[in-house]
Amino acid sequence: MNIKEEILKLKETKKAVILAHNYQIPEIQDLADFVGDSLELSKTSKKIEAPFIVFCGVRFMAETAKILSPQKTVLLPALDAGCPLADTILPDQLLALKAQHPDAWVVSYVNTSAQIKASSDVCCTSSNAVSVVKNVPSKKVIFVPDKNLGWWVSKNVPQKEIIIWQGSCFVHEQFTLEELERARSAMPDAVVMVHPECRKEVVQRADLVLSTAGMLKSARESQKKRFIVGTEEGMLHKLKKENPQKEFYSLGCAKTCVNMKKTTLRELRDSLAKGRYEIHLEEDIIKKASIALERMIQYI
Ligand code: SF4
Repeated sequence: MNIKEEILKLKETKKAVILAHNYQIPEIQDLADFVGDSLELSKTSKKIEAPFIVFCGVRFMAETAKILSPQKTVLLPALDAGCPLADTILPDQLLALKAQHPDAWVVSYVNTSAQIKASSDVCCTSSNAVSVVKNVPSKKVIFVPDKNLGWWVSKNVPQKEIIIWQGSCFVHEQFTLEELERARSAMPDAVVMVHPECRKEVVQRADLVLSTAGMLKSARESQKKRFIVGTEEGMLHKLKKENPQKEFYSLGCAKTCVNMKKTTLRELRDSLAKGRYEIHLEEDIIKKASIALERMIQYI
């Protein structure tokens, strides 16, 4: 039996569901029951009935699944698959910011720890950040932790005062304006679509600023044939798979998130076989964080 067959057999025996983020390696994406962005996977984890979820992604995503489905066993196959962006803000730092701006609502991007979500009023993803900030009842907002997404939100919601935490994603920060201009002159007919975690100057020159789910939708619906993509390179697999007649190129050289690549077929098999590594969160954190996550759904 090869490793893929082993995984499928274990999955069936344990009645597990495998969720994978769009940035996972192609072999994991191809074996998963659902592949999507943070928002899609959060919703899916809540809907599915299986008692076991194996979350192929990074820690904050598996924590989100646990918060939304506390009765389920959620496994993260690679113990050290973290998110450096989520690590840019600590609970004490958020509490200090809240004390400085008591009239502000805290909107936290899902790329945060469970503790940060528990101290937030509402969560958002890159697909719904603009709409969430527009709809919260306060005029002032504390937005954490990504400064580039925060800038994109403030540009689209000028009527609100937004205090932006200065964290960033080291992967998306690598895309440069020079790369974008070079790609444009090499392929003037191509659509340039970038993720809002990219630098401001890159976002300003792109044709489309989209979450990964937005990129898939746009590629599907567009009449254009060529696309230059400014996000983690794992995304190209799904774009190409869903649109075999179209062409997708990374903006500049491919940018990789090492954390997203820590889940290999071996880790996934061992996770299913040995029940590792289970996500445990304190009840109080789950209760508070779930309020912020459930509210997100109301505001979009
Ligand atoms: S791509 Fe960036 S935001 Fe996503 S997990 Fe990696 S470091 Fe975190």
